[in-house]
Amino acid sequence: MDVEALRAKFGKRIQRCPSCYVAYYIKDMWLAEDGSFFCEHCKSDEMFHFDDFSRAIDLSQLPSLKDDDA
Ligand SMILES: [Zn+2]
Repeated sequence: MDVEALRAKFGKRIQRCPSCYVAYYIKDMWLAEDGSFFCEHCKSDEMFHFDDFSRAIDLSQLPSLKDDDA
């Protein structure tokens, strides 16, 4: 699986925003320093959008993405 495929797969994960409790795709969310994902309505300026952090981290090292590879 190449990196772009991993990014696409990772981006389609559903996460619940811990602030407003609405579920979003991770690709539409922002990553906070504590590892939580926030939606566009609850993010702050210190958080990183998926487009940024998904390129900064090594997705191939995420075990949860490998598991359901089949
Ligand atoms: Zn929210």
